[in-house]
Amino acid sequence: MFVVLLGPPGAGKGTQAQALSKQLGIPHVATGDLFREAVANQTRLGRLAQPYLERGELVPDEITIGLVREQLERSASRRGVLLDGFPRTVEQARGLSALLTELGKRVNIVLRLSVPSDELVRRLSQRWTCRQCGAVYQLRAGPPDAAGTCGACRGELYQRTDDTPEVVRRRLQVYFERTDPLVSFYRQAGFLVDINGDQEVNAVTDEILRALNQRRLVNPMTLDGHSGSAKRSLGGAARKPATPRG
Ligand code: AMP
Repeated sequence: MFVVLLGPPGAGKGTQAQALSKQLGIPHVATGDLFREAVANQTRLGRLAQPYLERGELVPDEITIGLVREQLERSASRRGVLLDGFPRTVEQARGLSALLTELGKRVNIVLRLSVPSDELVRRLSQRWTCRQCGAVYQLRAGPPDAAGTCGACRGELYQRTDDTPEVVRRRLQVYFERTDPLVSFYRQAGFLVDINGDQEVNAVTDEILRALNQRRLVNPMTLDGHSGSAKRSLGGAARKPATPRG
C-alpha cells in the first residue's frame, strides 16, 4: 500500500507515519529525515541540500525525486511505503506516479492532515526530537530533567535548526505556495482523504485507520501494536477482513 501523508510542517505527519509504520508493517520514508541525515554526514547530497534546509526552501525536484527513487527501489519498499513530506510539488507528484508505474504500483491514498496555523506555529516552536528514534515531544519549557532524554529509548533530544520562528514562517509560506496545490491535484484524482490533525495523537491514528479500512486498504484483524481501540473502532472480529491491496 502506497500512502502519501500530506500537510504543513507541524501537522503530525512524522508522528502518524511512525505509528502507522509499526501497525501496517510498511516502511516510513521521510524525505526531510533523509536530507537531515545526508547533511549530518556531509555527503554530496547533504552538501547540496544544506542551504535549502537552512532557509526553509524546497530542495530542487530533480534531486528529491532521485532520492525517493532510490528508496522505492529497495526491497523493503515493495509491499508499500508511507511517504512523509513527499511529494511537495505537483512536479514531484507526477514524478512519484511515474516511479510507481515503473514498479507496477500506484498511490493508494493521500491523507491530508489539517491543523490551524496558530497551532502549527505553537507545535513547531515547542518541538523536540529524539536523535536516536525520531520520537517527537511537545515541551513548553524545554526538555525536562537534567538529561533531556527520550522517554522511549533514552536518546538525546534536540531542537531542529529550521524550527526557529523565522524559518518556520518561511516553511509555512512555501507549503501554502508550492504544496497546497497538491490537495486539488489528488482530490481530482480521487485519492484524497481529509483527516483532522487537531486531535490527540491516538485519535488521529484511529481516524486514519478508519479511512484505510473504508477503502479496504487494511485488514482490521492484522493490525499490530495499537491500543485495541482502533481494532474495535474498525469493527474488529465482527467484520469480514478486507484484502490488503497495493
Ligand atoms: P521536513 O522534515 O519534512 O519538514 O523537511 C525539512 C526540509 O527538508 C524542508 O524544509 C526542505 O528543505 C527539505 N525537504 C524535505 N522534503 C522535501 C521535498 N519533498 N522536496 C523538497 N525539499 C524537501
